Amino acid sequence: IPPERIRNFCIISHVDHGKSTLADRMIEMSGAIDAGARQVHQMLDSLEVERQRGITIKAQTVSLFYQDAAQGETYLLNLIDTPGHVDFSYEVSRSIAACQGALLLVDATKGVQAQTVANFYLAFEQDLGIVPVVNKVDLGHADIDGTLEQMATAFDIERDEALRISAKTGLGVDALFPAILKRIPPPAACASAPLRLLLFDAWYDDFRGVLCLVEVLDGKLERGMELVSAATGSKYTVQTIELMRPLMPAALPSLGPGHVGCVSLGMKTIHEANVGDTLSQASNPQPALPGFRKPQPMVFAGLFPLDENGFQHLSDSMSRFLLKDGSISVENTHSGTLGRGLRCGFLGMLHMEVVQQRLLEEHDCDVIVTAPTVPLKATMKDGSHRSILSAEDLEQVSGEVKELFEPLVKVTLLSPAVYTGDLIALCESREGVQVEHSYLGSERTLLRYVLPLAEIATEFHDRVKTISSGYASLDYEEAGEQPADVVPLGLKVNGKPVDALTRIVRRNKAVPLGRDMVETLQKEMSRQVYDIVLQAVIGSSVVARETIRALRKNVLAKCYGGDVTRKKKLLEKQKEGKKRRALSVGDVAIPQKALTAVLSPA
Ligand code: GDP
Ligand code: MG
Repeated sequence: IPPERIRNFCIISHVDHGKSTLADRMIEMSGAIDAGARQVHQMLDSLEVERQRGITIKAQTVSLFYQDAAQGETYLLNLIDTPGHVDFSYEVSRSIAACQGALLLVDATKGVQAQTVANFYLAFEQDLGIVPVVNKVDLGHADIDGTLEQMATAFDIERDEALRISAKTGLGVDALFPAILKRIPPPAACASAPLRLLLFDAWYDDFRGVLCLVEVLDGKLERGMELVSAATGSKYTVQTIELMRPLMPAALPSLGPGHVGCVSLGMKTIHEANVGDTLSQASNPQPALPGFRKPQPMVFAGLFPLDENGFQHLSDSMSRFLLKDGSISVENTHSGTLGRGLRCGFLGMLHMEVVQQRLLEEHDCDVIVTAPTVPLKATMKDGSHRSILSAEDLEQVSGEVKELFEPLVKVTLLSPAVYTGDLIALCESREGVQVEHSYLGSERTLLRYVLPLAEIATEFHDRVKTISSGYASLDYEEAGEQPADVVPLGLKVNGKPVDALTRIVRRNKAVPLGRDMVETLQKEMSRQVYDIVLQAVIGSSVVARETIRALRKNVLAKCYGGDVTRKKKLLEKQKEGKKRRALSVGDVAIPQKALTAVLSPA
């Protein structure tokens, strides 16, 4: 099929606005599978965690054939799926780079949301043809006019450009394919130019190894060709080429200009497949497309096995996990209190939670996660530079640091107007600087703030949801860096440091946070037969202190001093309830429950 009869497009929408339902509807309309098989497809569509959280992590791309009724010509429509969460915004931008158009899908019962706005800007910057679509018009409480008004304000589109559909019932969907053909341009691919491929997604298949999704930007890809990666210089031979047909991929000998397909290049690990990489013929290498970078981990934390001998299991599970997810960075680490563990870097907080959950579900591997840290850059007194990825790193070098820099993010918040005041207060309390405050229609507010990444890494998302009773949505993108006045806040128990609980905090918040930490621990820890002194410290200075008073022998008192076996039994009984690993610091055991309370203060 020539490029003129190809359309590469994605669906931009907020979670739950109906992207998967619409994708399935289009597959069905193209005649690829019938309604019965569609259910199967939806079931295959997601990982366990995706179903639970209602987000897409691994994108599903699909190629459809559509016969234009007017001219009888067959078109190839490639629906390119994008990951559905803020942590994966770089990957979203690469998926969008493989498209010439986007369906901008908005749920008529919810209106425009943050993810829609953020992804719209990505699409807009890349000059994509936009087809606005209002979904769920079948529902009684759908506010089609209000939604159209918001879309007109947010995206500067005409009301009558928008399609009104129900992906679920099929109402209005007949207009979709004609609108796609008309409003989305074909790929500007050239058959006679040297071969160039954009690698925009990759995953690890248990049976076939690494598979890459590519768009042929120019030229023709053939089986057996030798390719070179612009990112790494490595060379690969094209082993298989497939069209992503629903249910069953179709093997092909070649892939023409403008096409999208799945190729196997004999890569051994997912780390070789860099999303955003440009591949060309080894005999005629081409320069990289602009915009490529390796995704940088933005949140670091220590992972320690929950049971004392679990390190090997954790390490093995993580190695297997890394085959599938190339965006996690991993190093061995050691903690004085928790023993051996892994220091990992994640794309964001949700990514970290998802990895933790998948380790548990898929590998039966339960872990303690230490307080997350964002990557800091330090300029040292001797003029050298260092990156600081943990509170320990900071403690070690604190005497020699001249200046620290922290990453910033630009947050987009969309909310019913009544919550605006509280959301602004939240952002300002988190050191935010406002860059936009506008209205979408009469009832919704769009706020954009630049904030330190560290300030949204803990409980920010939850606070936004609580303040707005769940109605506000947020998205963020990277936004440079700024000088940071931060210190390592540690905990001592009876004078001994508990390294697992040290975290990096803003200097002006160290005292209240230290106070919170000792008070939380005091509440969660049970009294023992001697006094326990808890201290929050910065270096050698104490910022907060609490004492857990000793038990007044109230357990042993019941023994009347007589029966030795009964006394032993009682002591045994006391030990129960901490079957799971507890941190021991000197003679003091800090139970799991207390650790969790300090590490995840939500
Ligand atoms: P995604 O998160 O954007 O992929 O959203 P889904 O396609 O999973 O849809 C979220 C929910 O909305 C599901 O329960 C769908 O059945 C429902 N849904 C999707 N489209 C429509 C529609 O047009 N009308 C109605 N009533 N429900 C819909
Ligand atoms: Mg979905």
